Amino acid sequence: MTKPIIFTLDDEPQVLAAVNRDLRQHYRGDYRIMRASSGADALEAVQELKKRNDSVALFLVDQRMPNMSGTDFLTEAQKLYPEARKVLLTAYADTEAAIDSINTIGLDYYLMKPWDPPEQNLYPVLDDLLSDWWATVPVPYDGIRVAGTLWSASSHQVKDFLSRNRIPYQWLDIEKDKEARTLVESTENGARHLPVVFLPDGNTLASPDPRTLATNVGLQTEAAAPFYDLVIIGGGPAGLGAAVYGASEGLQTLMVEKEATGGQAGTSSRIENYLGFPKGLSGSDLARRATTQAIRLGAEILTAQEVVKVRVEDPYRFVTLDDGSEIGSKALIVATGVTVRELNVPGIEPITGAGVYYGAALTEAANYRDQHMFVVGGANSAGQGAMFFSRYASKVTMLVRGSSLERGMSQYLVDQIGDTKNIEVRLRSEVVEVHGKNQLEAISVRNRDTGDCETYPAAALFIFIGAEAHTDFLADIVERNSAGFIITGSDLIQNGKRPNRWKLKRDPYLLETSIPGIFAAGDVRHGSTKRVASAVGEGSVCVRFVHQYLKEV
Ligand SMILES: Cc1cc2nc3c(=O)[nH]c(=O)nc-3n(C[C@H](O)[C@H](O)[C@H](O)COP(=O)(O)OP(=O)(O)OC[C@H]3O[C@@H](n4cnc5c(N)ncnc54)[C@H](O)[C@@H]3O)c2cc1C
Repeated sequence: MTKPIIFTLDDEPQVLAAVNRDLRQHYRGDYRIMRASSGADALEAVQELKKRNDSVALFLVDQRMPNMSGTDFLTEAQKLYPEARKVLLTAYADTEAAIDSINTIGLDYYLMKPWDPPEQNLYPVLDDLLSDWWATVPVPYDGIRVAGTLWSASSHQVKDFLSRNRIPYQWLDIEKDKEARTLVESTENGARHLPVVFLPDGNTLASPDPRTLATNVGLQTEAAAPFYDLVIIGGGPAGLGAAVYGASEGLQTLMVEKEATGGQAGTSSRIENYLGFPKGLSGSDLARRATTQAIRLGAEILTAQEVVKVRVEDPYRFVTLDDGSEIGSKALIVATGVTVRELNVPGIEPITGAGVYYGAALTEAANYRDQHMFVVGGANSAGQGAMFFSRYASKVTMLVRGSSLERGMSQYLVDQIGDTKNIEVRLRSEVVEVHGKNQLEAISVRNRDTGDCETYPAAALFIFIGAEAHTDFLADIVERNSAGFIITGSDLIQNGKRPNRWKLKRDPYLLETSIPGIFAAGDVRHGSTKRVASAVGEGSVCVRFVHQYLKEV
């Protein structure tokens, strides 16, 4: 913790110099002494301190000043630092005002000028107040803070981005925390553009877009070089597997990830079937470990950058990022996975992010402690989500369209759900409407057999209803199946014929697409097993074929 601050304010230069001298003499070992000569300057300084989350232990302020009295200043300052001790410097004529301040602003003490000798008239009083302050002050958080409202979709996006990228932050709900609200109002655009992100260096970002946020929290968003041996698109398990193997085998490797490394797996609350982790591990832990490993081995990782176009100019392959920059490479691995399918029912769009969430949205679960949560879907991801939410919710209801859980879910999860008392499973059920103006309030559910529809109050709705391949940016480049998944290897050979534009004398390698030197790995690939281990395996196996391909060009 940095030294707490004793802040003094006086408009008379000699008095200010004398207070400053006496304070420094006695307190400079344990405190930072700051001073200001006008109320306006002092308030500005205090706001800056709060933005950096510095601690102010004590204000020592002259009562009689031309534009703002000491009491007026303390009234404002205590909105930001309610715990700080407040002392007024007064002349005899100010005594009445000082006594009033004890009632109005909870003044801790008033000192008569002059205070000589300080050993007798100043230090004992301040020592006492400071030791009080130490006993009550909460330890300040000196990392990133995000202030907003719980029911705002943009606040959810910022929190989700930070937590999925494993950047620690403190959440301040301005509807519950007066101090946080005052802090937000003190920023330039804060009150209008929520959330406000307070960075440890004192800078603030009002409702930042993901790339601005990424850059400011220390993630790499720009490539260091214009050209690489291998560019990997997508940073899920397949991309990370490829990055670890590519970098460790001496390829100059760049991975581009549009949201957060870890991909879908990063959102999983517990992966139980990944080799080597008998008790399971969280997706976020797996993503953190793999990202660190890839970087340590020399891979470069760009975050909050989306590949929007791929261009082939033999023998090179180029990717265009959504900021317009272009990066060249000798080989490409597409590991863009899938995106979760959306639930299109009336009322859902305005409150997505405010009670309605896609995927596990782990960060939100604690906000619905002891409330009724609903989970839509009947596959493994829905089951894992329900298990995770059951730790927080009073009750979790799973709404499943099918007639049995076993049809879409691993048996171990079916068993766990069966053993969890606060999970209820409703088969043959589908959500037909969601209700709520600023946040979710209720959902309407139809029984698919009887057609009966009922509306239930709902605190949160988590949706897990399948996925679409993320390959639009490759539409005219590589061959895809009718659902958009990329076709690779022997699947490209139809009736003994190689793909149309294929010019080489060999068949496409396993995991190679219809364009030589462009490979696909993981969920995005037609026919892939949609699992973490197989995505990691495919990503690493791809690298072997990249080497083989590079020997040919
Ligand atoms: C909630 C949940 C729980 C799961 N639990 C398990 C489990 O317990 N066990 C198991 O084996 N499997 C589990 N799975 C499945 C597993 O997570 C996936 O099979 C695996 O993540 C696929 O990895 P991938 O790298 O192919 O794709 P993804 O994980 O989908 O990663 C693709 C990445 O590419 C990025 N991307 C997409 N397009 C672009 C672009 N144009 N530019 C840049 N980046 C882009 C995406 O942002 C994403 O990060 C779970 C899935 C979910 C959603």
